[in-house]
Amino acid sequence: MLSRLEPQSPDALLALIKLHAADTRADKVDLGVGVYRTGQGATPVFGAIKAAEQRLVDTQDSKSYLGPEGDMGFVNALMPYIFGEDATMGGRIAGMQTPGGTGAVRLAVALAQQAGMTKLHMGTPSWPNHAQILGDIALEWVPFEHANPDGSANVEAVLSAIRGAGPNEGVLLHGCCHNPTGIDYTADEWEAIGDAIAETGVFPIIDTAYQGLGSGLEEDAAGLRSVLAKVPEAFIAYSCDKNFGLYRDRVGAFYILAKEHDTLETAFSNANALARASWSMPPDHGAAAVRLILRDEELTAQWLDELDQMRERMRQVRARLAEFGMAGTVDLTPLGRQNGLFSVLPVSKEQVVQLREEHAIYMAGSGRINVAGLTMDNIDKFIAALADVTG
Ligand code: PMP
Repeated sequence: MLSRLEPQSPDALLALIKLHAADTRADKVDLGVGVYRTGQGATPVFGAIKAAEQRLVDTQDSKSYLGPEGDMGFVNALMPYIFGEDATMGGRIAGMQTPGGTGAVRLAVALAQQAGMTKLHMGTPSWPNHAQILGDIALEWVPFEHANPDGSANVEAVLSAIRGAGPNEGVLLHGCCHNPTGIDYTADEWEAIGDAIAETGVFPIIDTAYQGLGSGLEEDAAGLRSVLAKVPEAFIAYSCDKNFGLYRDRVGAFYILAKEHDTLETAFSNANALARASWSMPPDHGAAAVRLILRDEELTAQWLDELDQMRERMRQVRARLAEFGMAGTVDLTPLGRQNGLFSVLPVSKEQVVQLREEHAIYMAGSGRINVAGLTMDNIDKFIAALADVTG
């Protein structure tokens, strides 16, 4: 039976991690994998997480099962950060814990399909796993180009994709710090997007994996909130894996916005059944640590401080790149206006290979770089290498 299977190509980024690990050059630079790095190149555990984990060790008296919805204390504690003061929008929002943002995206897509969504419009390039999840669930998706060649947002393309969508169709948006383009819409652009969604009735799925890594926790949620204020229904996929540094602990949440209470309960029960059939229950540890942080003023302050430092460092790297301007044929100034971990450089696949082979600089074949992989020690080398291969 197994001989019928076709070999699958390995995930390109995971393959890049292996290549980087095998490279013995001392000055190698990893701009591939999507994790935050300090100015020393480390991805440390947050101090607030360490403290919360210690408390868990000291006080947790059982590891018995929770349920498909996971740790509801975590789910609810997160809501004011995502949705604002009226965290349930008058009882219209309910959520559950998921294995990472990936689990939340998968649940959103599966539930949308179950509810009759026939097609999802998605701006490309996007996080590659979006297309993989949609392919696996077999929900048809159509691309639209949402980024201009100069790295700015093509909002007209977003609006025309939304306006051209038919009944029972959806649109996938990134809540902030778009992966891979680093694009964030302005407040006016979000208003226009929200208006177009409300006018056409297209169903929004908003994937928010980087809240707090762009302009600030509140600022990064503003676009999502402005859309939700205009629409009857939406799904929100959320990840705590970046803004709490919990990557491998797989901490995420899925939220449903519905028009009224009964619809919300029914949708929630369907999400619950899908979760039960998929992973039964999400892993507890990381979410429990986040709950402890958010319920404790001191730990919350410590977490916010650590998140501020992350954001500040990425701003510094982006400012330094933007200040440099042209590196060969690559204009680095747009990187100063973009947000979060990622930006896409206009380099060819061959130039990406050349950067790797000749300069030990590792980045995705798409030209995506993780700006947090740059430090004050390697940034000049990176700029010089870019100038060399494109000049
Ligand atoms: N959505 C986007 C846009 C992402 O970039 C990521 C992480 N790379 C995720 C979702 C999933 O994150 P997690 O690691 O929490 O599954």
